[in-house]
Amino acid sequence: MAEKAVPFKKSQLEEIIKEHGTPFHIYDEKGIRGNLRILNKAFSWNDGFKEYFAIKALPNPYILEICREEGAGADCSSDPELILAVKAGIVGENIMFTSNDTPTEEYVGARKLGAIINLDDISHIPFLEKNAGIPNLICFRYNPGPLRGGNSIIGKPEEAKYGFTKEQLFEGYKIMKEKGVKRFGLHTMVASNELNPQYFIDTAKMLFELIVDISKKLNIKFEFANLGGGIGIPYKPEQEPVDLNKISNGVKETYEKMIMGNRLHPLKIFMENGRMITGPHGYLFTKVRHIKNTYRTYVGLDACMANLMRPAIYGAYHHITVMGKEDIPHNHIYDVTGSLCENNDKFAIQRPLPKIEIGDILVIHDTGAHGWAMGFNYNGKLRSKELLLREDGRVEMIRRAETENDYFSTLKFQGSKFFKV
Ligand SMILES: *Cc1c(COP(=O)(O)O)cnc(C)c1O
Repeated sequence: MAEKAVPFKKSQLEEIIKEHGTPFHIYDEKGIRGNLRILNKAFSWNDGFKEYFAIKALPNPYILEICREEGAGADCSSDPELILAVKAGIVGENIMFTSNDTPTEEYVGARKLGAIINLDDISHIPFLEKNAGIPNLICFRYNPGPLRGGNSIIGKPEEAKYGFTKEQLFEGYKIMKEKGVKRFGLHTMVASNELNPQYFIDTAKMLFELIVDISKKLNIKFEFANLGGGIGIPYKPEQEPVDLNKISNGVKETYEKMIMGNRLHPLKIFMENGRMITGPHGYLFTKVRHIKNTYRTYVGLDACMANLMRPAIYGAYHHITVMGKEDIPHNHIYDVTGSLCENNDKFAIQRPLPKIEIGDILVIHDTGAHGWAMGFNYNGKLRSKELLLREDGRVEMIRRAETENDYFSTLKFQGSKFFKV
């Protein structure tokens, strides 16, 4: 059975657990920086290439600061996400605002910050104009419809609520041109957790084709093509990371043929990955609380799906290491569960693992994206703290754990009608 590595020594881990208790997510700064550098290097042939880190994957300003230091911007879709970007020093056109079903005040907020506005629908043109004004740079999100794949996380494009149809794009850019807009971008996001590099090359080709057609037809000039996020990560130990050079080389070839070949360049290429940047460099540490033998053997943890709900909602695989038992035969079959009163609160189902005892520390891998971020308070569960393993080996707490007071803070207990506890 292949194992996945953990960037800590056992002794250091014991120290961290002694200080912070369990459960917690911990992120590896070095790994995150490394991923951003590999991505930027792969696309260094494109003048102006930029990764806009998708904040929703790991909404913590300490992480965003690392992203900024590595040259990345931020992809935001709500006012709180805009605030997080600004807190981390990501401002102006280093913010891509890709929202849908957008409230007025968020367009106003994004416009005030000078963010790049990426519209989700043609009906948002008058909405934006009326409520926030038309910016001088505009981007539209394209939904290619039934022609393209999709997958179990993002669904089929024709069933997805996002984006403009092709006809609407032509119409939308025409309207914007008539309104005096001079700077244009085109965006799409049709994949999630995709491991096949060809998918991203095909996406670039699809956008480049559209850019050629629209530029010629409307006589407008595009500044950038945003290929979206969605680069997958190897959740399973036998999977390989996506070869970013392969994506980049394929995109470059298409770029030279279509964009340069049609004398349209320079066109900046943007991406907005979340998962690929931080996903593999987050770990959820949790302790075994109970072991229960009924029709199956259940390992009950002090973490639950409030800390990581990908397995419960997508049936997603997350690798589990039992600390200190890496080399022992994985000859016991367990359902690894949390304490939520929902039977899908399982991190693993019928998983072969070494013999587990109460008090063992389990590491759930690849929780750096869509992990803490998807947490919730159902059943009165509280979200854990987040730690950051700095490059120099220090461990910094970048978010404290929620307390009961946080949970109760939106309730109105004042007055006499409630009993004292
Ligand atoms: C979720 C999302 C992303 C990031 O997706 P990953 O799979 O984490 O790379 C990027 N752009 C948009 C519009 C998204 O909704």
